[in-house]
Amino acid sequence: MTTITHAPFGTCGQGAASLYTLKNERGMTVSVLDYGAAIVSIRVPDKNGSFDDVVLGYDELDGYRSKKYYLGATIGRFCNRIARGRFSLGDKEYQLACNDNGVNHLHGGEVGFDQRLWEAEIVHNDEVGQMLVLRLESLDGEDGYPGTLSVALCISLDEENALALHYRSQSDADTLCSLTNHSYFNLSGHDSGDVLEHQLRVCASHFLEADAQSIPTGRVLPVADTPMDFRVFHTVGARIDEDNEQLRNGNGYDHCWVLDKKGDGIQLAAQLYDPKSGRLLSCYTDSPCIQVYSGNFIDGSQPGKGGHYYTRRSGICLETQFAPDSPNHPEWESPVLRAGEFYDNTTIYQFGIK
Ligand code: BGC
Repeated sequence: MTTITHAPFGTCGQGAASLYTLKNERGMTVSVLDYGAAIVSIRVPDKNGSFDDVVLGYDELDGYRSKKYYLGATIGRFCNRIARGRFSLGDKEYQLACNDNGVNHLHGGEVGFDQRLWEAEIVHNDEVGQMLVLRLESLDGEDGYPGTLSVALCISLDEENALALHYRSQSDADTLCSLTNHSYFNLSGHDSGDVLEHQLRVCASHFLEADAQSIPTGRVLPVADTPMDFRVFHTVGARIDEDNEQLRNGNGYDHCWVLDKKGDGIQLAAQLYDPKSGRLLSCYTDSPCIQVYSGNFIDGSQPGKGGHYYTRRSGICLETQFAPDSPNHPEWESPVLRAGEFYDNTTIYQFGIK
């Protein structure tokens, strides 16, 4: 059974922040900050049973307030980009902040759910023990989105070393909702250098072509015969610097893959394997897509945990979601949440050894 402890983690204008640590009977721990509902650390064993922290993060609240790389944060109300910050719902047009180089809307806007202090509650579940529920109310008009949205994120850890993130939200008016977690994984340890020797598998035959600003062009392309083909394991670094327009546009991998889904349930979306440590991460979701971002913009300018400076490609994000700019692509699965209906999404990160 999982138990949860908590400790103070600094204060900000919104109040005092706390760090919640979930621990299962196998010794795996996951620490989650109520500020930004951010995953601060995940400690799991390697093939020899030694524990390491496998996500990038900060030791102090100020890091999480810097909004620089969104380390570990929960992203909302709409993750990734909306072209020129514009979309329409019914007969109304909305203009959101263009907080991505002044051109496009990124990760929910100028505030975003990553900069909110969430309300935390520890609840009991007969199967897994204690679970952490983080709640947030995002008011009508906040960051430009219509409708007051209530969000609950339930975080649990089981004895199979599976960390489950269950998002549920409801709005009083039609709005957009696409939530994700922005953890950067490095299965050799958060302070071990780049992830180019990790092996990646993505259960997708197609990806979204992106332009130089990482906005989908609208073309859904087959991965076959391209460096985007991860249908079987490939080393992350093997093709990342190939002379390829998509890789140039993303500065490496920063693309959305459309998952090959069988039905509606929770399915395997991606796996990340680190031959050095033997750690294997399996990501399951009921989301239609996954954005794989190889940390191309991490620039070593800011101290992370233990005073370590993270550099380019020192972590990789597996962000389950609706497609970027999907509000402007009615032909894709819709991120519109109708008034009174529920947004219900689950993503599981399971840690094992291979
Ligand atoms: C996006 C990147 C962006 C990064 C910000 C990722 O989800 O795909 O383009 O630079 O978030 O940390």
